[in-house]
Amino acid sequence: MTTWQDEASRDLLNLGGRLALLVRGEGSHVWDADGTRYLDFLGGIAVNALGHAHPVFVDAVSRQAATLAHVSNYFATPQQLELAARLKRLAGTGERGHVFFANSGSEANETAIKLARLHAHKTGKRTIVSLNGAFHGRTMGSLSLTPKPLYQDPFQPLLPDVAHIDPTIEALEAGIDDTVAALVVEPVQGEAGVVPLPDGFLKRARELTTAHGALLIVDEVQTGVGRTGEWFAFQREGIVPDAMSLAKGIAAGFPLGALVTFGDHDLFFPGTHNSTFGGNPLATAVGSAVLAEIEDTGLLQNVTDRGAQLRAAVEGLPLVTGTRGAGLLIGMTLSAPVAGEVRDAAQRRGLIVNAPTADVIRIAPAYTIGDAEVDEFTTLFSAALSEVAASDMKDNA
Ligand SMILES: *Cc1c(COP(=O)(O)O)cnc(C)c1O
Repeated sequence: MTTWQDEASRDLLNLGGRLALLVRGEGSHVWDADGTRYLDFLGGIAVNALGHAHPVFVDAVSRQAATLAHVSNYFATPQQLELAARLKRLAGTGERGHVFFANSGSEANETAIKLARLHAHKTGKRTIVSLNGAFHGRTMGSLSLTPKPLYQDPFQPLLPDVAHIDPTIEALEAGIDDTVAALVVEPVQGEAGVVPLPDGFLKRARELTTAHGALLIVDEVQTGVGRTGEWFAFQREGIVPDAMSLAKGIAAGFPLGALVTFGDHDLFFPGTHNSTFGGNPLATAVGSAVLAEIEDTGLLQNVTDRGAQLRAAVEGLPLVTGTRGAGLLIGMTLSAPVAGEVRDAAQRRGLIVNAPTADVIRIAPAYTIGDAEVDEFTTLFSAALSEVAASDMKDNA
C-alpha cells in the first residue's frame, strides 16, 4: 500500500518536515488523517494568530473571494488601501510612511534589501550588515543576510557587500561605520531559538545608524503584528526604524508580506519594484480583518498575559532550565540537546511544539488561547519532558 509518506517522497522536493498528515483545524487544535487530535502550539510557525478556521478569517476569505480576488498592481483596491493605512497607524509611521505588499517574509526582506541598495547608490555606501544567528529567509538576497553555513554554502556566491556581526553592543559599535548602507536585525531571533537582542541593542543601533547615515531595518516577520504583546517588537524599545518587514501573522494563515517604511528614505519609484500577486484584494482583506479582530477584542493583552502564564507554568519542569522571548513567542532552554526528542514525545501525546535548535523548544500559539489551552499544554508538555528525562537517565546509567 502506498502511504502518504511514500507519496511525499515521490512527489515533493526532499526538504524535510512531514511530521504528520494534517487534514483539519479548529481553534488551537488540528487533526491528522487518522483522526488524532493535536494541540497546536506552533501555530504554523507563528502564523495562525487567530488559531484555525476562526470565523473572522473564514468570513473575510469567503466574502472577498466572492467579490474580487486579484486585479494586478496596475490597479488599486479599497482592501489594499485600508490595510496600508491601518499598518501605518499601528506602526506609528506618521504621514510619511509607505507600505509595499508582498507574499512572504523573504519577499518583504528582498524589498528591504532593494531599499538598502537604493540608499547605497544614493550615498556611495556599500555594506549591508546583519547579525550572526539571524534568519531572514531563503531567497538569494534574504539568504545572503542569513549566515548559516548549512543554508548558505550550497548556494554561493551570494550577494556581495554583506557583513555579519555578533548580536552584541560591542560588535555593533565596532561594525557600524560610514561604509554601512543598512543594518538589518530581528528584535528576537526566532529561528536561532527565540534569542532576544541584548538590552539597549536597538537603541544603540538606532543611534549608530543615524550617526553614520545608514538605514535601520527591523525584520518583524516573526515578532510583528502582536506576537510579542506589542503591535511590533521595536515599539518596546522606544525607537523608530527606517523600515520594517512583516509576514507570518499578518493575515493569520493567508500568504501576505509587507515592507513598511517610516519616511525620509523612501527611495522607490516606478520601475524599481513590484509583485504580481502582492497586495491583492483577497490577501489584504484578510489582513485587515485579522488586524481589526486583534485590535477590537484586545488580544494583545491576552498575548502578554498568556505568555507570562505559560512561562510560569513551565519553570521547574523536567529538563527546562529557563524561558526567553516575549509575549507568545517563547523559547524554553533544555539542560541537554534533546529538543528533537521532546518534540517527538510531545507529538505522540497530541501536542505540537517545535525544536529550532538542539536544546531549545519554541512555542508560538494562537493569540486566542485561554486557561483550557494553557492547562492542556502544561499537562502534555510535562509528560513529554518526563518521558525524555527518564529515557535520558537510562541512557546515561
Ligand atoms: C520566517 C521568517 C522569514 C522568512 O519568511 P518566509 O515567509 O518563510 O519567506 C524571514 N524573517 C524572519 C524573522 C522569519 O521568522
